[in-house]
Amino acid sequence: SLSTAGWNLRQSYANLPKEFYSHQKPDPVKDPGMVLLNSPLASTLGLDFDDYEEKVLANLFSGNELPPGSDPISQAYAGHQFGSFTLLGDGRAILLGEQVTPEGNSLDVQLKGAGRSLYSRRGDGRATLASMLREFLVSEAMHGLGIPTTRSLAVVTTGEPVYREQVQAGAVLTRVASSHIRVGTFEYASQYLGKESLKALLDYTIQRHYPEAAQDENPGLAFFHQVLNQQAALVASWMGVGFIHGVMNTDNMSIAGETIDYGPCAFLNTYDPGTVYSSIDVQGRYAFGNQPKIAHWNLSCLASALLPLFHEEKEKAVSIAQDALNAFPFRFKEHYAKAMGRKLGLKERRDGDDSLISDLLQIAEEQRWDYTHTFLFLQGDMPGGKLQGSELPAFQAWYRRWNARVTGDGIPLSEIQRAMQSHNPKIIPRNHLVEATLSQAVQGDIGSLYRFLEVCQNPFETGKYTRLFQEVPDSQWERGYQTFCGT
Ligand code: AMP
Ligand code: MG
Ligand code: MG
Repeated sequence: SLSTAGWNLRQSYANLPKEFYSHQKPDPVKDPGMVLLNSPLASTLGLDFDDYEEKVLANLFSGNELPPGSDPISQAYAGHQFGSFTLLGDGRAILLGEQVTPEGNSLDVQLKGAGRSLYSRRGDGRATLASMLREFLVSEAMHGLGIPTTRSLAVVTTGEPVYREQVQAGAVLTRVASSHIRVGTFEYASQYLGKESLKALLDYTIQRHYPEAAQDENPGLAFFHQVLNQQAALVASWMGVGFIHGVMNTDNMSIAGETIDYGPCAFLNTYDPGTVYSSIDVQGRYAFGNQPKIAHWNLSCLASALLPLFHEEKEKAVSIAQDALNAFPFRFKEHYAKAMGRKLGLKERRDGDDSLISDLLQIAEEQRWDYTHTFLFLQGDMPGGKLQGSELPAFQAWYRRWNARVTGDGIPLSEIQRAMQSHNPKIIPRNHLVEATLSQAVQGDIGSLYRFLEVCQNPFETGKYTRLFQEVPDSQWERGYQTFCGT
């Protein structure tokens, strides 16, 4: 039995009004098989699966057998997808409950790809093995990079085919998150339920994620300020590593400030703010350099949803919302300057730092430098040592400026560079390596996925990897690269 694994589940979400969720059992799968288990994450959750046979674990992580204390539900939500408002909900995900960890945190445990629900619309409720392995790999890499994210506990195959453009192997991912409350959850409550339900959601979310806001004279507004700040920090951290989320719809924006929904995401190679990989993002709405603007836009959707809770009078509520929203560009700039400053060895933000950063990026864009390599070069860790174009006068002048700035307080450059090492990853999950590793894995060779995961989980360390993991793709590969949603 599974009762000794350390399960400590509760389902507080089911205390919300019934319109927020539906009871939903996972749809059993034919022949579950274990592929990946994240043992360090299991320990964090207070779970220990060492004594269990693989078959038992495969039954668990496929949803064929429910852990003790679970109360499976699917969550209702809405959202703006590429700017258009839509009613959504978990179409293929089932929340088993919140695991209360030994440290006292409550973390959602969700099965993704576990079958159809009340909210499935046309979809089959299933997921492909390649896309669930992709989420596992990239989310754990983001965690390794120190970026707030949902985590991945396990992947199992279902033994059933799923029908996409081609027939593929089906799989279920076990996702762990601070919660799955989205901007779109508030939009759902605001649009379809009454003020009372909206208030219930706010109170629940405040209690779970931002308890200090409850003490404020305007808890809804205090909550909004906090979410805005978390989102600004999150997107700044994405910009620092070259992460392109790819589908920043409001239903894919977590209120807790974690990166969520690893569908068409990818990493920047050559620095170009216009970079888009997602096959459906034809306008470039979610391009790398647009992400701060989109976060701001998404927060305006959250503010609209919260209006009735900001103030009784509509006009006053609107003006409160506008003032709060206007703080975003400034807030973002603060977080961005901090994130980029650390990458450049700048201790605190001084006059001239912002242009030092933007001038470097302009040169990187003109020279088509690899984003990750640009910082490794400054740090003295460039693979191969050289960065083509770094001998040019414009860069030499920038370098002297930077050198003077960072060594100005009498600290030697070598010491600055040593401090930079914990902020500039040597490893990011390069798109071409992700794809190569996944295609081997779906053919049954999982070994290179294990190795890649290990280096991605330790991206600032040396010695765990060979140069291969730092190589950039050739430009032809890069030009043809596309990512996909809903696979
Ligand atoms: P996403 O693009 O992953 O954010 O998903 C958008 C919406 O489509 C969510 O409501 C998902 O639950 C739903 N969805 C995605 N794939 C499927 C599927 N295979 N079956 C049912 N619903 C799905
Ligand atoms: Mg989604
Ligand atoms: Mg998705």
